[in-house]
Amino acid sequence: MEKEVIEKLKIPQDVFLPLLFSIKFGGDWSLKVKSTNVMAIKEKITRFDEEKMIGYTLENVFLFLNPVILNQEGIIYRLEKCGNKKEREIVKRPYKTTIEAEYAIKASLNPLTKKIRLKKVEGPFNFTGSNAYGVSHEMEHLLSDEIRGEPFFEFEYEIEE
Ligand SMILES: [Zn+2]
Repeated sequence: MEKEVIEKLKIPQDVFLPLLFSIKFGGDWSLKVKSTNVMAIKEKITRFDEEKMIGYTLENVFLFLNPVILNQEGIIYRLEKCGNKKEREIVKRPYKTTIEAEYAIKASLNPLTKKIRLKKVEGPFNFTGSNAYGVSHEMEHLLSDEIRGEPFFEFEYEIEE
């Protein structure tokens, strides 16, 4: 099934992997395929019908080839757990980010209709909040391999009375 899609999109098979991982295992992914940086970012939108009391969470997975950061705004301190590490770390992420890519596709997964719609999309791309953190995290992997954060044990407990 994926093979046909990859052929139609005319992209190398390895390049499709982060998108496939994001679809199958969830989350954001990045990978270096020879000289190409590839990144998949997942955006979730829940649609809920208040009258029928039923809905679904639509997942938009963006696949970017050779993404570059154009702009970043704001600083958010947060805890993140990287797949390569055992514990969470304190990191700084932008609140908003704008990126551009050589090639981008958007895969929309609808768990209600069980359809994955693929579409070639043009930048620039704006992300806010959790998606901006995800972009920043994956870009850090692509540009410097490892995520550099402060260890969790530097927290101090405080009892409120
Ligand atoms: Zn990571």
